[in-house]
Amino acid sequence: MIKDKELKDILKTRFTQAAHAMWGKDLTDLTKNESYQSLSRVIRQYISENWVKTNKYYLDHKEKQVYYFSIEFLLGRLLNSNLINMNFKQICEEAFKELNMDLNVILDEEPDAGLGNGGLGRLAACFIDSMAALGLPGHGCGIRYKYGLFEQKIVNNYQVEIPDNWLKEGFAWEFRKTDKAIEVRFEGNAYMEKQKNGKLKAIHKDYTSVTAIPYDVPIVGYRNKTVNTLRLWNAEVNKDFSDYGLLSHEQQQAKMHYKHNVQKITKYLYPDDSSYEGRRLRLIQEYFFVSAGLQSIVRHYRKKGMKLVDFADNIAIHINDTHPAVGVAELMRILIDEADMEWAEAWKITVGTMAYTNHTILPEALEKWPIDMFKSLLPRIYMIIEEINRRLLDDVRERYDDDEHMIQELSILQDGQVHMARLAVVGSHSVNGVAQIHSDILKSHTMHDFNTYYPGKFNNKTNGITHRRWLIGANPELAALIDDAISTKWHKRPERLIDLLKYSKDKAFTSQVEKIKSKRKQDLAKYIKEHNNLVVDPNSIFDIQIKRIHSYKRQIMNLLHIMDLYNRLKENPKLDIVPHTFIFGGKAAPGYHVAKETIKLINTVAELVNNDKSIHNKIKIVFMENYGVSLGEILFPAADISEQISTASKEASGTGNMKFMMNGAITLGTLDGANVEISQAVGPENCVIFGLRAEEVLNYYASGSYSVWDVYNNNSRVRTVLEQLVNGYFVNENEEFRDLYDYLLNSNDEFFVLKDFEAYAKAHLEIVKKYQNRSAWLTSSVINIAHSGKFSSDRTIEEYARDIWKINPVLIP
Ligand SMILES: *Cc1c(COP(=O)(O)O)cnc(C)c1O
Repeated sequence: MIKDKELKDILKTRFTQAAHAMWGKDLTDLTKNESYQSLSRVIRQYISENWVKTNKYYLDHKEKQVYYFSIEFLLGRLLNSNLINMNFKQICEEAFKELNMDLNVILDEEPDAGLGNGGLGRLAACFIDSMAALGLPGHGCGIRYKYGLFEQKIVNNYQVEIPDNWLKEGFAWEFRKTDKAIEVRFEGNAYMEKQKNGKLKAIHKDYTSVTAIPYDVPIVGYRNKTVNTLRLWNAEVNKDFSDYGLLSHEQQQAKMHYKHNVQKITKYLYPDDSSYEGRRLRLIQEYFFVSAGLQSIVRHYRKKGMKLVDFADNIAIHINDTHPAVGVAELMRILIDEADMEWAEAWKITVGTMAYTNHTILPEALEKWPIDMFKSLLPRIYMIIEEINRRLLDDVRERYDDDEHMIQELSILQDGQVHMARLAVVGSHSVNGVAQIHSDILKSHTMHDFNTYYPGKFNNKTNGITHRRWLIGANPELAALIDDAISTKWHKRPERLIDLLKYSKDKAFTSQVEKIKSKRKQDLAKYIKEHNNLVVDPNSIFDIQIKRIHSYKRQIMNLLHIMDLYNRLKENPKLDIVPHTFIFGGKAAPGYHVAKETIKLINTVAELVNNDKSIHNKIKIVFMENYGVSLGEILFPAADISEQISTASKEASGTGNMKFMMNGAITLGTLDGANVEISQAVGPENCVIFGLRAEEVLNYYASGSYSVWDVYNNNSRVRTVLEQLVNGYFVNENEEFRDLYDYLLNSNDEFFVLKDFEAYAKAHLEIVKKYQNRSAWLTSSVINIAHSGKFSSDRTIEEYARDIWKINPVLIP
C-alpha cells in the first residue's frame, strides 16, 4: 500500500510532469484550463492501468457482458466523479493546497459532456456508473456527437440556442481506437440470390459505405478495480476516400458531397426529447451506432474463440428506448448474412440477447418511420423486418383466429410505417417500464395487446440515480454529516441510508442538516447574483422546478400559481406570506413553440414581480440559464421544495425527483411516475401530493368528459390569471402570450393545468405551513434522505442484472 504522503507527492510530481509535457510550462504559468487538462492527464493514466487489467480479466475469464445501447449519455463532468470513485479526492485537495492551487477551481474548468437531452440520457450515465461501481461487466454504446445539447442563453427574455462546441479543447477522457474501425452500409440494393449449393443468400450492392471509429471512455468503478468502457462512435469517410487519382469534375463533386453527408451523421445531438424532425438523418444516426456497436461486439466475441450459438448466454444487449431498436434486425443480419445461420436459430439468439426499456407513453414520442424512407436507406434491414413481421402475423392469425384488431395492434408494419416500439417488443425477451405506475399503464393501456400476446415479458424496473454524483459529489458536506452519523456503509450499500431514520428527531443532527441546507442556499444565491444579477434571500423558501420545458411537465401551472399569489399580494399588501423564491431551469426544444413561450412568460413575469417594490421582496422568480448536469449539482442541494407536478400518467418516472429527495427537499407533486413510490416510501406526512390521479386522467381522455370552460367559468382566480396573458397586463408584449392562452383553451387544456390549479394552490398553502414548523420540516427532510437509498441506480441496476441480464459481479484482482 502506498502511504497517503507518498501518493500526494507522486500526484504532485506527475502533475508537474504533465504540465511540462503538455504545455511546456511551469505550474505558476498554467492557466486554469491547462491545470484542468494536466490533472486529467495524470488521472487518466491511473485509470488506464486498471482499465487494461479489467479488459484482460474479461477476456481471460469469458464473463457474460452486457452492453447498454443508448443514443444519449448525458455524462456531465467526469474529473470530480473519477477522483471520488478512485478515492483520490481528498489527497488531491491536499496536494493542490500545498501547491497553492484550489482544486474546485480546476474542477470547474471541465466542460459538461452534454451528449443527451435530459432524463433518458442522464439515466444512461447513472446506469454505467452503477454497473462499474457494482463490479458488473457492463458497457455503454452510443454516439460521439461533435456538438452536444445546445447552450441556452436568455436574451430579452427569450431562449436563444448556441451550438455546444464541447470538444474545442479536446475531451480528456476519450481514447480514439482507429484499429477498431467498423464499416456501416447504407442505401443501395438488396435482394436474395440462389447460390451453387441451392441456398438463398442476401446480396447488398451499390451501398454507401461509412467508417465508424470508436472513441472509448473509461468508466471508473467506486473503490474497486473495475473500469468498464463507454464506446462512442464517430462517423468518418471510408478508407477509399483519400484514393484520389484522376477524377472528373463530377466525380470530385460527388466525393465532396459524400464527405459532407458522412460528417453530418455524428455532428449534432437531436435537441428534442419526444418528437423528431429532420427525420432521415436521425434514422441514419440510429442505424450507424447500432450497426457499428453490434458488429464490434460480435467481432470481439468471435475473437475470444466463443461460439455464436452460445451468444445469448454470454452477451446481453439493452435497448434504451426505441432509438436502438433497429438492433433487433441488425443482429439478425449479422447472424444470418455474415455467420450463415438459419433464421430460427438466429431469431432465438436475438430474442435471447435483447431487452428493451420503454420510456414514455406520449404517443408523439413512439418512433415510427415511413416505409419508403426506411427501405431506401436500409434495404437489407427492411427485408429482415418484413420477414420478422410475416412470421409474427402468421402466429397471431393462428392464435387469435384472424382477429383483425390483434393484427393491427401488433403488426410492426402498419399504415405505411415501421413501428419501432413494436419491433423492440417482438425482438426482446424482456420489456420494462421505468416506474411501477408507468409499467402498469404499459400493460393495461399502451401495450395491452402485446402483454396478452407475450405474458410475462413485461416487467418494471423503477429508475434510480447514482448517489455518488448526486449526494457524495454534489453535496460533500451533507455526505460527511451522514458518514459521521451512520458510517460510510451507505456509499456501497445506499439502502443503508435508512439508518438515518433514528436521527430524524435528533436535534443535534437535524440542526446540522439545516445548517448545510442553508449554506447550499447561500451558494446558490451567490450564483444567482453573479449570473442573473438578482438578489435573492437565502432565508426564503427555495422552491425549484428544473427539467426540460414541456407541456406535460406543467411549468405553466407553476407560473400561473405564482401570478395568482402575486395578485393576492397586490390586493392585500399586508398578506402574511413566507418569503418565497421560485426557481426555474430547463431547455425547450428549438422547434417547440409553446415551450419557448413558457420560458418567455417565466422571464416576463419575473421582470414584473422582481422589480415591484410594493411587495417587499416577498416573491422572487429566477430563471436559471442553461440547466444541465453541472448546474443541477448546485441546484438540487439548495432546494427546500421539489416541484414534480406533471399531469398524472405522463411522466414515466422522473429522476430529478430522486435527486431532490436525496438532498433533503420535500416533494410537492402529483401521483405520477416515481413520485408514487417516493410518497409511499416516505409516507403522506413527508411529502405533499395533490391533483388528478392517473386513472382519472385516463378516464377523462377516454370519455371526453372534461371541459376546460367549466373551470374557466367557475374559478375566478384561474380566469383572472389567464386573462392577464392577453389583456395588456404585460405591457409591450404584443399579445404574444395569446398563443399560450389559446393553447390552453383550444386544446381543451390537454394536460389539465386548469383542472388541477385549485388543488395545486391548496398544496402550496399546505407545504408552506409545513415549512414554518421548522423541527417537523427537518424531520421530514431527514426521513426523505433516509428513504432515498431505494432510488439509487445501484438498486435499479442490481435488478436489471438479476432479472433481465443474468449477469454477476466480477471482482477484478
Ligand atoms: C436528472 C436530470 C433530468 C431529468 O429531470 P426530470 O425532472 O426527471 O425530468 C434532466 N436534465 C438533467 C440535466 C438532469 O440532471
